[in-house]
Formats: sequence, structure tokens, C-alpha cells
Amino acid sequence: MPKHTPSTLNPRSPLVLDTRELPRRPGALRTVERVSPAPADLGGEMISVPEGAGLDLDLRLESVSEGVLVSGTVTGPVRGECGRCLREIDDSLTVRIQELYAYENSTTDTTTDEDEVGRMQGDLIDLEPALRDAVVLALPTNPLCREDCPGLCPECGVHWDDLPADHSHEQIDPRWAGLSQLNRKEE
Ligand SMILES: [Zn+2]
Ligand SMILES: [Zn+2]
Repeated sequence: MPKHTPSTLNPRSPLVLDTRELPRRPGALRTVERVSPAPADLGGEMISVPEGAGLDLDLRLESVSEGVLVSGTVTGPVRGECGRCLREIDDSLTVRIQELYAYENSTTDTTTDEDEVGRMQGDLIDLEPALRDAVVLALPTNPLCREDCPGLCPECGVHWDDLPADHSHEQIDPRWAGLSQLNRKEE
């Protein structure tokens, strides 16, 4: 039983790589350099690539005996929110792609699972799943506006950067007053 779903890829989609120009001879090379609009929901909840933003594809397609090896980088903008201070994060991200796509009906195709090795659909390669995996892996689950972001004062919600160094709320709970005296003596 062939494991393929019938080809539904659109060769004109910028995240679909067309290998018709690539000879099926091990070692043959083609490069793909293009800008693709980012698909929706690329990334996580806290930080992601805005839909439609330009992704710079800089890829190398290499024929190997059982398929095509795609390697290179994809660079795009990312936007999110700092997990500590909620400030907007405006950054860019470069992910490395290295993925083998097996020819239909090759030995690799028939002896491996689709989640182990990618599949070609005819002469086409759908780059999107590999790109999604790479982006999700590269993005932090708890993004920060900067490594040492001090966050917000829990009392007044103002960013510590915008507060004087000696900022404090001198309304110590009477139950803790004794403890605070103790701390002061230790200093
Ligand atoms: Zn922050
Ligand atoms: Zn405060």
C-alpha cells in the first residue's frame, strides 16, 4: 500500500520547493533564495512570526541517492511580549533547516515513517512542516525583552528600569516589620 496522500501541494506556493530543475543524480545542487510571506500561527503564544511577514529563504537542495536534502537558513522577524515586564519584543530569528525528503517509492520511502524522514510529493517538497518545527524549537517559551530584564515592581507595576534605585513601598505589614528590622541589622 502506498503511504502517500495524493499531491495537494501548490507549486506556486513560496514554501513549496519545486525540484524539477534538480537532476536526480546524487551530488546535483540547486539553490533557492526567495522571500516568502510567513504562514499564520508560526511560533508560539508568547512570541511568533507575524503572519505575512517576509521570510528570507536561503536554501540548498542537494540530490542524494534516495531523495533531496534541503539545508540552509530561514530568517524572519518575530514579535512578542516580555514574560516579565510585558514590553513588546521586536526581534529577528534565523533558523537552520536540514531535512531529507525521500523520493516517492524509494527504499527510504517504503522503510521509514513519515515523521522520521520527509516525503516528496512528485517533484515537490513542502517546506512548511520543517520550518514550523524549527521555529517553534528556536523560540523561547518564556521570551524576555532582554536577558536581565528586572520585570515590574509587584507593588505598583512600574518597570524597575523606570524607578529610582531606592524605590520601595514603605508600608510594611506590621507582621513583617520585626523581620525587616532583623534584616537591616544583618546588612
Ligand atoms: Zn522585559
Ligand atoms: Zn513600586
